[in-house]
Amino acid sequence: MKKFTRLNLVLVFSLVFGVMAFVGTAAASGPVHWSYEGEEGPEHWGELSHDFAACSEGVEQSPIDIPATASVTPADIGFNYQPSALSILNNGHTIQANYDQGSSIEVEGKTYNLLQFHFHALSEHTLAGNHSSMEMHLVHQSDDGNFAVVGVMLNPGSENAAYTPVWDNVPAQESEAETISGVTVNAADLLPHDRGYYRYNGSFTTPPCTEGVKWFVMSTPVELSAAQGAAFEQIYDANYRPVQPFNDRTFGQSAVTAPQTLPVSGGQPFPVAGVLTGFGLFTAAAGLYLYRRKTA
Ligand SMILES: [Zn+2]
Repeated sequence: MKKFTRLNLVLVFSLVFGVMAFVGTAAASGPVHWSYEGEEGPEHWGELSHDFAACSEGVEQSPIDIPATASVTPADIGFNYQPSALSILNNGHTIQANYDQGSSIEVEGKTYNLLQFHFHALSEHTLAGNHSSMEMHLVHQSDDGNFAVVGVMLNPGSENAAYTPVWDNVPAQESEAETISGVTVNAADLLPHDRGYYRYNGSFTTPPCTEGVKWFVMSTPVELSAAQGAAFEQIYDANYRPVQPFNDRTFGQSAVTAPQTLPVSGGQPFPVAGVLTGFGLFTAAAGLYLYRRKTA
C-alpha cells in the first residue's frame, strides 16, 4: 500500500472538483417549456426563464434578414466531414441528427467540431425578406467552447439522395436519439456545391438564445423534392424564429480580417460552465500528471 501523500491528495481533490464542475453545470439548466406560437412563443421566450433573458435583451440575436446588398464571403471554409452513423431524434422542436466525433470545419484560423444538424421550416434567415422553404443548421463547437453554425437554405426542386437517409427515418413523435442500424449520412453531401457564405455574429435561434455564435449562412441553396420537404413539414411546419434586428453588426468577417483574439463585446456561450469545466479538467489533468510522475 502506498502512503496517502500530498500529491495523491491533489489528484483526489482535482478529480472530485472536476466531476462537481460537470454535474453542477448540467443540473443548472433545467428544462423550461417553450414553443413557436402562443404564450410560450418567440415573443415571450425572454419572459419564460431568467436563463432566456438574451432572447429579449440581446442585441446580437439570430436569425436575421440578409439584405440583397450583403457581401458574400468566398468559399474558404475547410469542411473536414466524414460519414457518420445516423443517430436521429425528434426533440419536440425539430428533427435532429447527432453526428459522430471526428468531423469539423476549419475557418478563421480555428477548428470547430460538428455536433449535430437539424432543420427549420420555413427558413429562419431570410434573403431580402424572402424565406426559403426550409433551413438546415450544422452546429459546431470548438475545443474552447465557442459555437459556429453553418446554415443551408433548402428549396423545392429535384430529389436529393444525400438527404434520403434522414427523411426515411424521421421520428414522427418526440423521441430519444436512436441509432439506425446500417444507415450512414455524410454531411459533406448535404452542402451546396458553391460554398460562398454570409458571415455575421449572432446567437442560437432557440432558447436560451445565447450570443457569441459565429454564423456562416451558405449563399447558394440546396434542392429537395416536394416529397422530401413534406417528410419534415408533416411533423414541423412552423418551427422558425422570426428575424431579429441586425443593429450595428456587419457582414463579411473573413479569415483575412477576423481578429485572432476573442471579441471583447458579445457574450461567449455558457461562460460559467466553460470556465468551471475547463478548470476542473485542468486541475484533474495536473493532478494525474503529478501522480504519474511520482509513481513512474
Ligand atoms: Zn437551428
